[in-house]
Amino acid sequence: MNKEQLLKASHISKDYKSPQKVTVLEDVSLKVHRGETVAILGPSGVGKSTLLNILGTLESETNGTLDILGSSSPFRNAAKIRSESIGFIFQSYHLLNEYTTLENVLMPAKIARKPTHKNSESYKRALNLLEKVGMTHRKDHFAKLLSGGEKQRVAIARALCNDPDIILADEPSGNLDEQNSSIIHNMLVDCAKSLQKALILVTHNQELASLCDVRYLLREGKLESLS
Ligand code: ADP
Ligand code: MG
Repeated sequence: MNKEQLLKASHISKDYKSPQKVTVLEDVSLKVHRGETVAILGPSGVGKSTLLNILGTLESETNGTLDILGSSSPFRNAAKIRSESIGFIFQSYHLLNEYTTLENVLMPAKIARKPTHKNSESYKRALNLLEKVGMTHRKDHFAKLLSGGEKQRVAIARALCNDPDIILADEPSGNLDEQNSSIIHNMLVDCAKSLQKALILVTHNQELASLCDVRYLLREGKLESLS
């Protein structure tokens, strides 16, 4: 049976107009299916974050179309798509330092105005996700007390809190040492596979990209297949 297509980018381009006009993406097309893991490689400055932000509806494309779970760009409901269907993981974790590990994981549910009390679905899910990323023993610690590797595990659990179909990770191990990078990449790919998510991750680590099903190099505004 063919896998369900969750995301499709067709001939996406992106220009920034200020301070000077720069064409970052020229013609990017990409399809991602349920349970598929995709790595996008490329040196600093080629437009990886720009592309990921467009795929996550955080920025809009200049030309081309993005389809996410049956909706097409330009999206009128981008905030809803982001909240319900996409989980984000960033290089610098973006946890809320003054909140505990568990509160951070529950934040997407709170933003989506779901119940988060002790008997709620989201609360049980958050505890399960903390177990999955090996962080149960730190659930009541403030985020500021965690190490980098621990913060990124919490960020993985948080990205999965609302049970999104698509996970976008921008250099998730960019601030971590080799051992923690490897743990985070394995954990991300494992979570995406076991929960049947689509994972798109940006990295410049070839070895870690090799864990993914599909690999592309972003070069001169286009994706080149590396498989
Ligand atoms: P990467 O993530 O691959 O390092 P980025 O997507 O962050 O690359 O940036 C690609 C290029 O676009 C860079 O040259 C950067 O300076 C430029 N750029 C990124 N965001 C903006 C913006 N908001 N306005 C103008 N230029 C930008
Ligand atoms: Mg970047």
